[in-house]
Amino acid sequence: MSQLIRCRKCDEVFMRTPFDQYPLYSNDQDHPIEKFQFIEKDDFKDFLNLHQGHPLERLDIIEDSFVSEKAYFEPVKTSFFKATNGKEKFVVKKFRERIDEPVKYQLIFGDYSLKCATIEIQSEEITKQLKREIFPPPSQTQIDAFLKLYQHMVNEKSSHPLKVYYKLDDFHLMYLLRNCHNIFKGSDYSRMEEFIHRHRDDGVLLLKASFKIQITERIKGEEKALFPVSNLKEEKVAIKK
Ligand SMILES: [Zn+2]
Repeated sequence: MSQLIRCRKCDEVFMRTPFDQYPLYSNDQDHPIEKFQFIEKDDFKDFLNLHQGHPLERLDIIEDSFVSEKAYFEPVKTSFFKATNGKEKFVVKKFRERIDEPVKYQLIFGDYSLKCATIEIQSEEITKQLKREIFPPPSQTQIDAFLKLYQHMVNEKSSHPLKVYYKLDDFHLMYLLRNCHNIFKGSDYSRMEEFIHRHRDDGVLLLKASFKIQITERIKGEEKALFPVSNLKEEKVAIKK
């Protein structure tokens, strides 16, 4: 189990993982092997030396709070998670600027939320699937018109790394179906209607949304009033691709 240690004076944090510790086995008969001690790797010793006499506390990492701007297997990235000492909530920034650098942790007073940045449709997949499933296949003009209609419902901006797929809500489904009457007639429409229903829940019509991590900082010393509105400082985290 990893442990996050905070120095309350300096507001620095240290992440202890089981890999930071070497087991020390005892040959002493009076102290059997199960009672082995752990000795810390130098990093944690350095942290303890640096913060000697300062009040230290353990922070609990809040489960499922981890967000990252890149996939988890990317070595150079910035991630955030939430931690608490039972009274206050913090954001911990985990980052590394170069692949050969150790991971660093930075304590931020505040919270974060995810803000939807863009929504895209899966144009290529929809085109492919329309040609494969509908016979006779819709004309390119019809396909283009359909994609244009679908995209019109959502707005397209530059893409961001935190992606989530979600399905169209009922309101927009009705809008899409109603407007498809302008593109497809008769049996063409019926086939298109079936296609839409088939792909809405778990198919190519799923919408691709991307999120931006938005950090809300608060000023230290305002612990009693959590996130007072007057002290809120909003900072948008620039996400580099
Ligand atoms: Zn300290």
